Amino acid sequence: MPWPTIRKPPHPAVRPNVTDYDEARRRFTWEAARAELDGLPGGAGLNIAHEAVDRWADGPGADKVALRCLGRAGGRHDLSYGELKEATDRFAAALTSLGVRHPDAVFLLLPRRPELYVAALGAMKARCPVSPLFPAFGPEPVRQRMALGAGRALVTTEALYRRKVAPVRDQLPDLAHVLLVDGSGAALSDDGVHALDDLLASAPAWPGIAPTDPEDVALLHFTSGTTGTPKGALHVHEAVVAHHSTGRIALDLHPDDVYWCTADPGWVTGMSYGVIAPLVNGVTSIVDEGEFDADRWYRTLEDEGVTVWYTAPTAIRMLMRAGGEMAAAHDLSRLRFVASVGEPLNPEAVVWGQEALGLPIHDNWWQTETGGIMIANLACADVKPGSMGRPLPGIEAAIVARDPDDDGAPLVRDGQAVLVDDPSVEGHLALRPGWPSMFRGYLHEPERYQRCFAGGWYVSGDLARRDADGYLWFVGRADDVIKSAGHLIGPFEVESALMEHPLVAEVGVIGMPDPVAGEVVKAFVALTPGAEPSEELNRELIGFARARLGPAVAPKSIQFDDDLPHTRSGKIMRRLLKARELGLPLGDTSTLEAAP
Ligand code: ATP
Ligand code: MG
Repeated sequence: MPWPTIRKPPHPAVRPNVTDYDEARRRFTWEAARAELDGLPGGAGLNIAHEAVDRWADGPGADKVALRCLGRAGGRHDLSYGELKEATDRFAAALTSLGVRHPDAVFLLLPRRPELYVAALGAMKARCPVSPLFPAFGPEPVRQRMALGAGRALVTTEALYRRKVAPVRDQLPDLAHVLLVDGSGAALSDDGVHALDDLLASAPAWPGIAPTDPEDVALLHFTSGTTGTPKGALHVHEAVVAHHSTGRIALDLHPDDVYWCTADPGWVTGMSYGVIAPLVNGVTSIVDEGEFDADRWYRTLEDEGVTVWYTAPTAIRMLMRAGGEMAAAHDLSRLRFVASVGEPLNPEAVVWGQEALGLPIHDNWWQTETGGIMIANLACADVKPGSMGRPLPGIEAAIVARDPDDDGAPLVRDGQAVLVDDPSVEGHLALRPGWPSMFRGYLHEPERYQRCFAGGWYVSGDLARRDADGYLWFVGRADDVIKSAGHLIGPFEVESALMEHPLVAEVGVIGMPDPVAGEVVKAFVALTPGAEPSEELNRELIGFARARLGPAVAPKSIQFDDDLPHTRSGKIMRRLLKARELGLPLGDTSTLEAAP
């Protein structure tokens, strides 16, 4: 049974940036979007940090709070746009004074504190490609990524340096400088290790950003590693055109917004939409150093008066688990728009938002490779729970047919991809190349990059369907879909059906080899707190899924598992469930949330 479409009443005070989807699509051009930005003075190109910081600091917005940083143990520290300019100028000057300059790569291994934001934007001012690493990584994932990216400088804390970098330092020949944001201790005696404060104090005046080619690499982001070894995606300064416009269109950012993106900048969401998009749109952004905690998050939403909130399905599922009463105990009346990305958002969760927060959750879709939001449920449009929404203005999306003779690979005829029109048929979700934040390569993997393009399209690796209204529905990753007795089954559909059961908190679904059917569906189910696993509940859940999905698609077996493997960015790792189940090698586990 499909979930009813949610029609939203207009907000009493704030008119969405886009009020008519079709008209916005007709009128949109990337040239016009580019013209909304400044560019460097004197036509000297385009630099993300200028658009994010200097543009406001040099104008009447200098005193506005750019970042409101909440400490892990309490306390808050505000940084205005003016202060952010000064700090990033000084950082850029300090970096340059060490001889670190374009195109040397600068890695960041920092908690979500002001220094992380200053270092990211400061390094971009120095035109150094920035690669942010998730600070919970162990030494090996840090080493692997820094070696791949030939990091010349690293900005980190003393504790992180000692635990994660010093043990592998001898394997990082390119790493010439380590800048410790809190450096005063013993680590300073290591080669090339500096106290950032000392460098800042002695740095010469910053002459301003040098001419920057919009095609210069600005960011190196590693993917989440959900389906295999993480890939390094290269993004350029031109991407800021998309960060700006998608922030306005998909997140509906308005100048007075208090905005909170809960993702860590070690992942692309936390950089594109936790650092760049909010600043480029001139809003006040919440930066929380703390980790997920349902009560803390509700308090942050309430106390900071968050108006626009961008989070992830895993967080929403955890809030659902914590119960609606907790939401009801907080005044969330300032909240105007809630969006989610990273994984399929179960329809159940969209509707939960409506009940618990008074707002539906707006799912949107994109990838490390796309650099910015491509498909979204917009503030002005009806929400179909379970759908990712529609392509943004400026983005052309299509469903490319699966080739039955080539194991479902994208079907190309005479050099052109064959597109699917039928809303009931799934295929490869593909995008017409050419949007500004499209990745320009996979680090050291040119052939892999080429393989992403087929018949004139960028093929995302995800399978989807498009309905008659143009809404896109996620089916699964091409690697994850299950082929059972002639059916193609997307794990998401099965997971969402089980999620509707009141005792189910989270589900991961895989295909198990079967001599008759090819594969059969198996579900791993985490129960809500207090629910007890039992044979009876197991049977009940299988019956529940059968009633919703039919016997061909419903799981044949269910295993209770309170500890589903997640990536550190919060996605269920189905490949690991499968490898464990079949006793196969686990593959790359560098992004696994907890050690296997
Ligand atoms: P890797 O490429 O290393 O396997 P990853 O694909 O998880 O990891 P990301 O770039 O962080 O790395 O994630 C992008 C992917 O996340 C998408 O391709 C899609 O599979 C999934 N995803 C993101 N948003 C959504 C969404 N709204 N609905 C469904 N899936 C989504
Ligand atoms: Mg991917």
